[in-house]
Amino acid sequence: MVITKPDFDVAIIGGGPAGASMGCYLAKAGVSCVVFERELFPRPHVGESLVPSSTRVFKDLDFLPQMEAAKFPHKFGAVWTTDDKKTPYVHDLEGLSADCNVDIRFDERIQPGIDKTYTYHVDRGKFDLMLLQHANKLGAAVYDGVKVTSVDFGPKEPVVRFNMGRNNKEMGVSCKMVIDASGRNTFLGNQLKIKVQDTVFDQYAIHSWFDGYDRTVFAKRDTNLDYIYIHFLPISNTWIWQIPISDTVTSLGVVTQKKNFAKSKADREKFFWQSVASRPMIEETLRKSNRIRPFKDEGDYSYAMKQLCGDRWMMVGDAGRFVDPIFSTGVSIALNSSRFGHKDVLAALEKNDFARESFSNFENTLRLGTKNWYEFITVYYRLNVLFTYFINDKRYRLDVLKLLQGDVYDDAQPPVLEKMKKMVTEVEQNEKHPWHKLLGDLTSNAFSPSF
Ligand SMILES: Cc1cc2nc3c(=O)[nH]c(=O)nc-3n(C[C@H](O)[C@H](O)[C@H](O)COP(=O)(O)OP(=O)(O)OC[C@H]3O[C@@H](n4cnc5c(N)ncnc54)[C@H](O)[C@@H]3O)c2cc1C
Repeated sequence: MVITKPDFDVAIIGGGPAGASMGCYLAKAGVSCVVFERELFPRPHVGESLVPSSTRVFKDLDFLPQMEAAKFPHKFGAVWTTDDKKTPYVHDLEGLSADCNVDIRFDERIQPGIDKTYTYHVDRGKFDLMLLQHANKLGAAVYDGVKVTSVDFGPKEPVVRFNMGRNNKEMGVSCKMVIDASGRNTFLGNQLKIKVQDTVFDQYAIHSWFDGYDRTVFAKRDTNLDYIYIHFLPISNTWIWQIPISDTVTSLGVVTQKKNFAKSKADREKFFWQSVASRPMIEETLRKSNRIRPFKDEGDYSYAMKQLCGDRWMMVGDAGRFVDPIFSTGVSIALNSSRFGHKDVLAALEKNDFARESFSNFENTLRLGTKNWYEFITVYYRLNVLFTYFINDKRYRLDVLKLLQGDVYDDAQPPVLEKMKKMVTEVEQNEKHPWHKLLGDLTSNAFSPSF
């Protein structure tokens, strides 16, 4: 067994947004670090629409000029649509519309530390490559095409193991601590057996890219053209994302529950088209465009970890937690985990103390943020109409927008969420409530406290 030298202070497993941004933060602070990425970038990846809290990270990392130069579509807001003819939504409860067709602009609320009125939709192949190259430019070593096979946490420093070369020779790199940024591969979560599957959110998605999909069909105004569109379907807990990738290319995906999802690949494509057909205008528009990528499906992706850090390790991004992508949260959580996490890593290096407690600020902040996202998503699935009702209500609109902007890390119990939770419970408990028949099939008692 050969142990390569010199060692690094920090070894990062995975070069997606979480690993690359951690590499940027640490390298920028002068820390010797290495990123292991099993793929050769660019590689395609689901998750193309960002939320504005990502901008703080781009600013910290001097990465905004590259984002602008890449000419990614600017995302100024979000639209939710429904087919009024098929869905008997109740209007004018307490004099307010409970219509499920709403839109919101990010510039309606000033966001501390962010001076842009938009965020971005990104081609993840291109974006992930750019960020990983940026980490490398800032001084992080990048070993791409190298798959980490195990980490030895002995009595001393951890050793990250991988195979290299024509003879697949086993190699090892020692470091002071390991950061797991391996995404839904959950490398350390599996090795340490601390992953907890979410038994309630068992969503599946099938998606592709389409050239020539006419986005003007749904845009009420020209300015709405490059928003993200969430189209509600008249099928329980099922929705479609519509995300601009370029002037002509659009990403569309159907998200549904496991029980609705077809088992065979061929049936899944059929399922995609059947779901789309439940909104005839979307189907008609989509049929006129060209699919330019094979369909891809992803499934049963929601989970948590019993710990987000331990002695000499930390998990960032999807490696630590995955929540349903309905509000385009994943990349922002990945980037912000590095924003919060790198501070604890720098302090641990300074003190030469890598005990679990050294990373508790990070763990507490991340848990608070993902709890808020999770509760927000839960309320949405329990009663779609409640979510749009709150957006339409002037009293709550900006508080909901704060969550949609990704500012979820500074308040243990956002009042608007408490209000939403109370209201949906009332609707669930009162069969005579006009919204009772609009409830989804997830109810409050379905959720275990660990989530
Ligand atoms: C259906 C669906 C739709 C989504 N839509 C959105 C959206 O619109 N907006 C959004 O922000 N997010 C979305 N997401 C979530 C988003 O894709 C993720 O949250 C985001 O990619 C997380 O970044 P990450 O760096 O943690 O993980 P990843 O981007 O997955 O990166 C992890 C990297 O680790 C590498 N790796 C894994 N194992 C090893 C190993 N053993 N050795 C070396 N390298 C390894 C992988 O190759 C990968 O490149 C969506 C997710 C799903 C499932």
